[in-house]
Amino acid sequence: MTSKSDKITMRETFQIHWRAFKDVRRYCPGAFGVSILYGAAAALSPYVTVYLSARIINELAGARRPGVLWPLAVLAVASAAALTFVTGALLRWKTAKEAQFLERKNRVFADKMMSMDFADIDKTETHDLRSQIAQSENWAGFGFYRFWDQFEKVAQGLAGILGAAVLTVSLFTLPVPASAGVFTVLNRPAFLALLVLALAFTAALGPLCDNRAMDHLARCAENSRFSNRVFHCFGFLADDKGRGMDIRMYDQQKIARHYMETESVFNDRASSLPRACRGPIGVWAALGSCASAILTGLIYLFVCVKAWAGAFGVGSITQYVGAVSALAKNMGVLIEALGVLRSNVPFMRDIYQFLDIPNQMYQGSLTTEKRSDRQYEVEFQDVSFRYPGSSTWALRHVNIKFRIGRRMAVVGENGSGKTTFIKLLCRLYDPQEGHILLNGIDIRKYNYRDYMGLFSVVFQDFQLLAQPLGENVAGARNYDRDRAQKALVDAGFGDRLASMPAGLDTMLYKEFAEDGVDVSGGEAQKIAIARALYKDAPFIILDEPTAALDPIAEAEIYAKFNDIAGDKTAVYISHRLSSCKFCDEIAVFDHGQVIQRGTHEQLLADEAGKYHALWHAQAQYYTPQPSPAEA
Ligand code: ADP
Repeated sequence: MTSKSDKITMRETFQIHWRAFKDVRRYCPGAFGVSILYGAAAALSPYVTVYLSARIINELAGARRPGVLWPLAVLAVASAAALTFVTGALLRWKTAKEAQFLERKNRVFADKMMSMDFADIDKTETHDLRSQIAQSENWAGFGFYRFWDQFEKVAQGLAGILGAAVLTVSLFTLPVPASAGVFTVLNRPAFLALLVLALAFTAALGPLCDNRAMDHLARCAENSRFSNRVFHCFGFLADDKGRGMDIRMYDQQKIARHYMETESVFNDRASSLPRACRGPIGVWAALGSCASAILTGLIYLFVCVKAWAGAFGVGSITQYVGAVSALAKNMGVLIEALGVLRSNVPFMRDIYQFLDIPNQMYQGSLTTEKRSDRQYEVEFQDVSFRYPGSSTWALRHVNIKFRIGRRMAVVGENGSGKTTFIKLLCRLYDPQEGHILLNGIDIRKYNYRDYMGLFSVVFQDFQLLAQPLGENVAGARNYDRDRAQKALVDAGFGDRLASMPAGLDTMLYKEFAEDGVDVSGGEAQKIAIARALYKDAPFIILDEPTAALDPIAEAEIYAKFNDIAGDKTAVYISHRLSSCKFCDEIAVFDHGQVIQRGTHEQLLADEAGKYHALWHAQAQYYTPQPSPAEA
């Protein structure tokens, strides 16, 4: 992760934001167009009023011709109304765009997460980086949002400076008459140059001070990383429905509050933020305000002295004071925006460090032809695998062939490598040694989406969505209702479906509908199994989705599933041997290796084998126990 204190050059500031500009434009077209239009309109519209008011006052103080005054007055009112209208409309448009921008910028991260190698998604560093980016955004808007927001300020600053410069030129060029005596010094080019320098310096001073304050704030953001994490974890504890019972039972809110209070960024002891606000942040911000007050004073002084000496009329005083103040203000806006963009750089570095995580898995292009005979054969050839960053092998020299249409079981104690085996089969990871072949060809050579289409896996920790039941089953908004219904009935959900108020259209859970239906763990499992059936893939895998059930209930579900799997190749994973004894072939995993293979009877016959030992160790759970009276 980059450090916030790394040196930041203007070149890098420009380059990284140019890249952000292109990325944001792709996700949210028109976002910058509306920024430029609104920024320019907001900056330029006051000048029209300033200019026309000056003309009116000059006419009132001079010839007072009604033929000139009336059109000027009408023009001033009409243009003020029109500009207010246009700026107001642009502001609305910008606000709508902002809402769209906030949603779209999240898609950048969601798309990256979806396209990333699974091995990277699994890494703690990836999650740290992502949550760091989210925290910087939530904490002080750093990242894409800050860039977009400041882009508008840059447009506003540039347009404002241009407009003010046009209205101010004559302030410096109109000479004081020779009769003004000592005041003719104001006409000297050297004096004018000095004055412009002094004005520019004072105008720059304010935003520079503000930028220093911003730098300190950015540093505090870095120091507050841990506090922010604590806040993210404990701040919303009570909102988590799933934790409701635990929180009440063990009074967890008290301990959450303790951590929140000791780690709060607003806590004097734990955080540098309050100290920095009282100290450097406060002092620099105050100096910034002070500099702009001095600047306004200087401008008034110069304009009034020049008017006093007779260089221009009283109306022009309004114009020049207004224009020069706006010039200084817009210079300030521009300098401050550039400074903020500079302090945004470290946060953009984090964003691009995340977005640039490379895809290292080879992506093949072969298609897995849709075979009506489902003659797909998968083979593990001497496969060994270690998780990234781990020194121990999760799988070692695994050789297995799936025979088409058969029922295969993968059993073994927890941690023996069963889930890892499935993850490799689904190519969530590539093995470091050996090959996995589909119909004799390395699975890496296939198009990944095509390959994934061959598998339906019901994972241990499957998740359903707060969406209508049918959409959950089909994974789509438009789906074949008859097939979805059949899948649910086959999965044993038929009776429950019949009692659901809106059948397939019944909303699951209550997040988005008051009349949503909460389903039990067992019912959720059936829906997950129906989802796998609806996909109708040639391989169907149950990876202990029944872990929460007792061994007998699990065995019943697995046996029933056997009936509905039809011509599919079904793979059952479990650490409970009783669930899988009906399978054609059972592979026993132990410490990442396949140590035994065969049917239940064959394996049980080997009295020295692991299967025999495990079977007898577990037998108490699924063989009827003699009652105390019988014993
Ligand atoms: P099982 O499914 O049989 O319970 P797993 O395949 O989940 O076993 O785990 C096999 C081994 O790999 C275990 O030692 C486990 O600690 C390790 N392991 C599992 N997932 C990861 C991971 N994401 N990173 C590192 N090690 C892991």
